[in-house]
Amino acid sequence: LFVSFEGGEGAGKSTQIRLLADSLRRRGFDVLVTREPGGSPGAEAVRHVLLSGAAELFGTRMEAILFSAARSDHVEEVIRPALASGAVVLCDRFMDSSRVYQGVTGNLEPDFIEPLERVAVNGVLPDCTIIFDLPAAVGLERARRRGARDAEGPDRFEKEEIETHEKRREAFLDIAASDPARCRVVDASQPETAVAGEVLLLVEPFLKR
Ligand code: C5P
Repeated sequence: LFVSFEGGEGAGKSTQIRLLADSLRRRGFDVLVTREPGGSPGAEAVRHVLLSGAAELFGTRMEAILFSAARSDHVEEVIRPALASGAVVLCDRFMDSSRVYQGVTGNLEPDFIEPLERVAVNGVLPDCTIIFDLPAAVGLERARRRGARDAEGPDRFEKEEIETHEKRREAFLDIAASDPARCRVVDASQPETAVAGEVLLLVEPFLKR
């Protein structure tokens, strides 16, 4: 089972993924937690570049290609083998982040984004995608507080206008509406334990398939 987690900044994805991984492991599932950009040694090296000052030099197309290059490596080196071994894979961001960040707010046309997605995922698609939804202002405040503690610091994506973040929120909700078999939306403004309970309930039916 392949589950991806999507949403804007400060939605609490990584905390929730950890909580879900814990409860699935307690139930005997073999769980792999991974993230994008990154997740494999090669892709983590690309992440480092993408979240560094060097990224200021990149145009949106170059950036989108680098995200897909990282995704391709992550899929082939980590996700596909884990799924083949029967593990439940929980991935913090996947292709929907590219559709939203590079496609919608990066203004890249679908004719550019779609072929990149196709070659990068190479048939490995999430069975289930949990979309963490919350007002941009709430997410940004959380992300700012975290940025002060984060080893990577407040990255450049977190310095943008609130309107950009609201646009992404809408774009994630559009994806959810356009693919209801795969996507589930969670109200991420609720307290942590409430979100965790909801995420578990939403993933439950996919575990039985
Ligand atoms: O999930 P996390 O906040 O660690 O993601 C790192 C950064 O990379 C985010 O700030 C996100 O905005 C950005 N990103 C992106 N395009 C993607 C995936 C992530 O711009 N396809």
